[in-house]
Amino acid sequence: NADTALFRAKETGRDNYAFFTERMDMDVRAKLAIQTQLRGAVARGEFAVHYQPQMCLRTGAMLGAEALLRWDNPVLGRVAPSLFIPLAEEYGLITAIGEWVLDTVCAQIQRWHAAGLGEIKVAVNLSGNQFAQDRTVEFVEATLRKYGIAALCLGIEITESTVMGDPDKAVAALKRLKDIGVGISLDDFGTGYSSLGYLKRFPIDVLKIDKSFVDDVATSTNDAAIALSVISLAHNLNMRVIAEGVETREQMAFLREHGCDEMQGYFFSRPLAADAFTALLGEKKNLSAI
Ligand code: C2E
Ligand code: MG
Ligand code: MG
Ligand code: MG
Repeated sequence: NADTALFRAKETGRDNYAFFTERMDMDVRAKLAIQTQLRGAVARGEFAVHYQPQMCLRTGAMLGAEALLRWDNPVLGRVAPSLFIPLAEEYGLITAIGEWVLDTVCAQIQRWHAAGLGEIKVAVNLSGNQFAQDRTVEFVEATLRKYGIAALCLGIEITESTVMGDPDKAVAALKRLKDIGVGISLDDFGTGYSSLGYLKRFPIDVLKIDKSFVDDVATSTNDAAIALSVISLAHNLNMRVIAEGVETREQMAFLREHGCDEMQGYFFSRPLAADAFTALLGEKKNLSAI
């Protein structure tokens, strides 16, 4: 039942939330428990942002990071974002959580600058409901001002479903963000529908090849063909390409050989807590060192 499920998730510890992610069809009581805990989770300081390096495949240097939200709750344990983000949207909590993420990331960028750790760019995932709010673009601008950082240091990642709800509004919001210099990446590319129409309509800088195509890129001719097509499509449209979920040297070698611009994945690093990521920045570790 839901109670044992929740407690089991807690007992399995920090990095194990398989139970929730595998069972997307949660029962009502589990959802209610999450809803109850989600309210006030920002105020109780239960969220943290982790950072996963994005590496240049040509030079091996770190160019940036993706910000990934982590939620550790005393009752539920660690809950996966793929589970609580949709519920936060459903319960009208995503704007508050999303604004906390943006503020936290900008504050962190400012600290890295102050420490002389370089000009890395951090990409934040945005939800559809955040776009439905007129204040999101203003909030981004205000937060950049608050911390005195350049818009070039910030990127956002959207998916097709992010913009699907109100495409006209989304186009307008994205254009404003792009105008001020915030980079825009289309996440999970190839997994949604009408991808090509969105490419034409939205001001996108980067395509992210979804992990599901990267997994077998070095062993399946179909996945290799898809990856190569995404790379040439992006380049023909003057966009860059990032491969997500790179776990092996073979995948990396294939992507590098075929002109993919950047990669992120466990092969180089998992998403890291801010302190660990700061240490990694200090080391200036290069992809070719591993
Ligand atoms: P995403 O934006 O596609 O993020 C990539 C996911 O792949 C992350 O899962 C990351 O930890 C995982 N990943 C990266 N490299 C590897 C790898 O080599 N192997 C494997 N197996 N996984 C890898 P995570 O952190 O669980 O996030 C899941 C999704 O939740 C994200 O997918 C994103 O859609 C959403 N999300 C995360 N943080 C936020 C946030 O702050 N706001 C919003 N709106 N959504 C977020
Ligand atoms: Mg993403
Ligand atoms: Mg992704
Ligand atoms: Mg993905």
